[in-house]
Amino acid sequence: TIAITAATGQLGRLVLDALLTRVPASDVVAVVRDGAKAADLAERGVDVRVASYDDPAALTAAFAGVDRLLFVSGNEFGSREQQHRNVVAAAKEAGVGHVAYTSVLAAPTSTLPVAPDHVVTEQVLAESGLPHTFLRNGWYHENYLGAPEQAKATGTVLTSAGDGRVASAARADYAEAAAVVLTTPVADLPEVYELSGDEAWTQDDLAAVLSRVTGTPVTVTRVDADGQREALTAAGVPEGGVFFAVATDAGTARGDLALQTGDLSRLIGRPTATLEQTLRTAS
Ligand code: NDP
Repeated sequence: TIAITAATGQLGRLVLDALLTRVPASDVVAVVRDGAKAADLAERGVDVRVASYDDPAALTAAFAGVDRLLFVSGNEFGSREQQHRNVVAAAKEAGVGHVAYTSVLAAPTSTLPVAPDHVVTEQVLAESGLPHTFLRNGWYHENYLGAPEQAKATGTVLTSAGDGRVASAARADYAEAAAVVLTTPVADLPEVYELSGDEAWTQDDLAAVLSRVTGTPVTVTRVDADGQREALTAAGVPEGGVFFAVATDAGTARGDLALQTGDLSRLIGRPTATLEQTLRTAS
């Protein structure tokens, strides 16, 4: 039995799609916090079990009989560390055979604001004694779905990421890789996959893609962290969003999103979708 947490999320749904082409629905458990969102999954024959990351007992019950678990990281910043500890403890309690966890690219050295929770979760999993594989996912192309609109409005990409490259990839490619991992014998899995796209782009490359996608010239405006903070604040971005954007650009400048091992294209057996393909498909 293969279980996926956060199965009603954007990544989780894509993993389910990819998994259901490989194994029968009767072998698949979708762990969700809101059963109402999973009615379509139940209709597809998937065993839907309700458990919040905040509810250890429900998680343990949901993991009963599970051989392989895809643990998708949560998105409630501030609560995630404890929630993730709950998931690992429940997996251990339930006797799950192997846990694949969606971490962040180059977790041990990453300075991105999202990294600390992932580092702790990796440590907790390693210390649990559970067989595990870290799926260290790079940035999603989909993080830039709003970029064409913004580029059309402003004509420019405002960045403090310097020359840092971003080896982003489509959510669907990460999802397919997860499905491959879930259906690969545990003995054949490494402890870590560093998953990222085949192209590692700069801000100039991004502007070129946005120019082509929008059909209007797009420039790059390079600022430092203070300049970015001021510009985003003036544009009405809330404080948390400003912090996240500036800290993420700082990490990007240091190369936190640039690592390329080829693991993702090897796992899916084809080149990764390009940023331009993803932005064109979405527009
Ligand atoms: P989504 O925001 O679409 O999905 C997050 C999922 O987490 C949802 O299914 C949500 O449940 C579930 N979740 C959140 N809190 C809890 C909780 N307390 N208990 C149970 N489930 C919970 O994100 P994606 O699917 O796009 O991405 C998956 C994960 O990857 C994110 O959660 C985040 O950790 C990370 N991420 C990575 C990015 C990248 O660029 N690499 C970008 C954005 C996120 P529900 O469906 O009920 O809302």
